[in-house]
Amino acid sequence: MERQARAEILTVGTELLLGQTIDTNSAYIGEQLAAAGIEVHWKSAVGDHEGHIREALRAALARSEIVITTGGLGPTEDDLTCLAVAAELGRPLILDKTVLESIRHRFTDRAIVMSRNNERQAMIPEGATVLPNRNGTAPGFAIRLRDGRIVAAVPGVPSEMRLMLNEQVIPRLRESFGVTSTIRSHILKACGIAESTLDETISDLIRLSRNPTIGVMAYPDEIHIRLTVKSESEAEGDRLLDELETAIRARLGDYLFGRDEERLEEVVGRLLLETRATVAVAESCTGGLVCHRLTNLPGSSAYFIRGDVVYANEAKERLLDVPHKLIAEHGAVSRPVALAMAIGMRQTAGTDLALGITGIAGPGGGSATKPVGLTYIALASEGGVICREHRFLADRDTNKLLASQSALDILRRHLLSSRHA
Ligand code: ATP
Ligand code: MG
Repeated sequence: MERQARAEILTVGTELLLGQTIDTNSAYIGEQLAAAGIEVHWKSAVGDHEGHIREALRAALARSEIVITTGGLGPTEDDLTCLAVAAELGRPLILDKTVLESIRHRFTDRAIVMSRNNERQAMIPEGATVLPNRNGTAPGFAIRLRDGRIVAAVPGVPSEMRLMLNEQVIPRLRESFGVTSTIRSHILKACGIAESTLDETISDLIRLSRNPTIGVMAYPDEIHIRLTVKSESEAEGDRLLDELETAIRARLGDYLFGRDEERLEEVVGRLLLETRATVAVAESCTGGLVCHRLTNLPGSSAYFIRGDVVYANEAKERLLDVPHKLIAEHGAVSRPVALAMAIGMRQTAGTDLALGITGIAGPGGGSATKPVGLTYIALASEGGVICREHRFLADRDTNKLLASQSALDILRRHLLSSRHA
């Protein structure tokens, strides 16, 4: 029978309070514990101060069965976690010979002299299980109290923390608390649809789904739909997730572009490879962002041929043969100019596809008829040229991001339909 154990995270480090280091460790720990079927109820942060660490630990133990500390395990004077935990639990620090040996080895292997400081790291609270550190010197430790509660201390260095948590802490916690269920989640990513529209489209599924549950998170450029399932076996979890995913896909169709870690540019890159199409990009207001995103992918030279940042009108005319008259008549930010940029780019680069992007990123440069955020994105292909008009209502950086996202999306949709054709 599963006892629901409440877990809590205590991060240690003055740099976390000063905002010099962003606490990514507790986000990671929370995510991993949830996936392992252990719920985190609290998290707190304290500086490198023995009294404060003790106080926080005391409060944590009063309400949680599991306390995981991260940081302050190193060899320096300000690494006080071990000291504070030992003192708070009334356990003396004892020199662990095995730990001392392994620390010594790390130093002799690297032909460096070990400082006395490092010996401090071999002092472990009495009765604690040492958690070896495969990535660094400071070991972690876990203490099981008489009543079953567990305090586990892991390092602050993220790579060391992650390894120790996954390999040593979580298996121990699951065993100690008889946790057999697992929690898994998938993220479905959508773009080109407003959050409210998406919400409406799947609102009954959101309301009725208990397991998996559905969570919607909106970002400026895309929306993530997180499906989370709790199950006794991975296969059962996957089956439930697949079922719900199919139902959501039936509603949202092409608005969904990817899942989990997949980025929009990756999806576009894959489609370009699949369809053996080549692409060139003429950018004005996005300043090269679309090219940057497309070339972030290894192997992009297979489809990415050329990118021009044509910021000045003269550059649009000279490099892409955009007629001077067109710009004079309609302005640089206009549908005809976006179309001409895409067509000109396709011709000069000799690619299958070409994008033309022109807009007003802001904060200045807008007018009553052409407000900040007005952006035209055109795509030229063998079959002709299309153009979408957008009115992005954000700051300069976000407007650029949104324009790049829409440009990649117009490309994605074109490639999808040409693949189906
Ligand atoms: P070390 O042996 O390196 O001293 P430690 O356990 O003492 O390890 P800290 O000294 O507290 O860890 O932190 C080491 C590094 O890890 C620092 O660069 C710190 O910024 C980073 N770090 C500490 N805590 C966190 C956290 N909660 N999230 C992200 N990074 C962290
Ligand atoms: Mg340290």
